[in-house]
Amino acid sequence: MSVERSERFYRERSLWLAGLPGAVTARASLGGDAAYDVAVVGAGFTGLWSAYYLKRSQPDLRVVVLEREIAGFGPSGRNGGWVSGGIAGSWRVYAERAGAGATLRAERATWDAVDEVGAVAAAEGIECGYRKAGTIAVATSGPQVARLTADVEMARSRGVGSADLRVLDPTEREGLVHVHGARYATYSPHCARIDPARMVRGLADACERLGVVIHEQTPVHQVSRGRLRCAGGTVSAAHVLVTTESYTVQQPGQRLRFLPLYSLMIATEPLPERIWEQLGWRDGLTIRDRRHLFFYAQRTTDDRIAIGGRGAPYRLNKPIDEACERNLQVRARLEATVRREFPAAADAVITHHWGGPLAVPRDWSMGVSYDRVTGMGWAAGYSGHGVVAANISGRTLADLVLGRDSDLVTLPWVGHRARNWEPEPLRYMASTAIVKMLASCDRYEDRTDRVARRQRLLAPVMPPV
Ligand SMILES: Cc1cc2nc3c(=O)[nH]c(=O)nc-3n(C[C@H](O)[C@H](O)[C@H](O)COP(=O)(O)OP(=O)(O)OC[C@H]3O[C@@H](n4cnc5c(N)ncnc54)[C@H](O)[C@@H]3O)c2cc1C
Repeated sequence: MSVERSERFYRERSLWLAGLPGAVTARASLGGDAAYDVAVVGAGFTGLWSAYYLKRSQPDLRVVVLEREIAGFGPSGRNGGWVSGGIAGSWRVYAERAGAGATLRAERATWDAVDEVGAVAAAEGIECGYRKAGTIAVATSGPQVARLTADVEMARSRGVGSADLRVLDPTEREGLVHVHGARYATYSPHCARIDPARMVRGLADACERLGVVIHEQTPVHQVSRGRLRCAGGTVSAAHVLVTTESYTVQQPGQRLRFLPLYSLMIATEPLPERIWEQLGWRDGLTIRDRRHLFFYAQRTTDDRIAIGGRGAPYRLNKPIDEACERNLQVRARLEATVRREFPAAADAVITHHWGGPLAVPRDWSMGVSYDRVTGMGWAAGYSGHGVVAANISGRTLADLVLGRDSDLVTLPWVGHRARNWEPEPLRYMASTAIVKMLASCDRYEDRTDRVARRQRLLAPVMPPV
């Protein structure tokens, strides 16, 4: 049971949790039955943003957040710290549901949300190192150039202009960062860098200042209309919001709702200024490449490179488990990426390695839902792109609970729910095929500089394009 967890256990979950200032002690658990207006399950970004906006909009609402571990225990306290615009999911899925215009509006809402996260961090005094310097996608091979070119063409055809995504000429590119072997790059201004654990823990504090009650080390065992059976008591509430993302698959009847896919990261030791000068990496800029198993990286507030990628194997019997959080092969691949793309940092010591589970819906597209009759709502399925999406989900759930007809409640993911994944071992086979095939495509493309056509075989289990 989680009540035995030590501070060390929590800090070991990520670089960011390890670096939290002060003690990481759990808030009081639920100590008996209680009644609230709104009960939120899970204190990640989605749950906390929901509570935050509910309470900010209607201060007399009684709101409780029930968290099995501590606020930010999940990916919200472990992620790459990219507060990045762009829809979480497939454009096609949303456009088929709501039309291209609504999907472009959704894309713009994600850009605005990057600023909203920064504005709340500033207003609430959350020192999370928020810095908005945009994001660069770099191609180091012919196939990657082709994919980035196609990304820009696709964006243009959807109405995204050059102020929001553009190709960089080599001088501009080198002015932002020197990536070894870069042949081509695109830039979007819609991204900021944060320390996610400081952001999520700061948001929990901000919620409390507004009067939200947060119980940590309080697992919710059963969710039903108006009632949550927890360790320590039963909470009754007119509105129940389930914001447990990938962990939703641990709840009864929800096993196949998402594919819990792990994303893993490493961090270097803090690098001296002379290395940063050689890297030419503008502070706050986030960087990714366009491999199939792409990397995503940020320069941290304490001058490390924190870099992540996918490719961790899926465990059939226990797809969400501490044992999935570290993997020697993925770690070696990420280390090789640092050496190859950022040779000035090749000798840096790797001090941290961690990871967490993403919730991947069958169509890779998120959903936000609230039923006025039952008072039950949820938001999840961000497929690894949830920092901004969770902010939008939180505002949307608040509007839905409060019965407000805002623009947010008409965004294309509202009311969307993908079908379940196929039963095991098919889901296992799908995730294993994704990881193995994408890795093999990257090896082929690195070797030949030709596009790996075999990737098309994955189309039935990848995001619809
Ligand atoms: C390594 C990694 C890197 C990533 N990088 C990025 C990035 O740079 N940018 C980006 O946009 N996204 C990124 N993501 C994804 C992003 O972190 C998530 O999409 C987002 O944090 C999800 O937030 P959430 O609040 O919905 O879920 P979570 O953060 O998973 O929170 C859910 C909470 O529910 C709690 N819970 C679960 N079950 C119960 C229960 N029964 N009772 C009570 N509580 C329960 C959990 O303990 C957890 O705290 C990354 C993810 C990982 C793992």
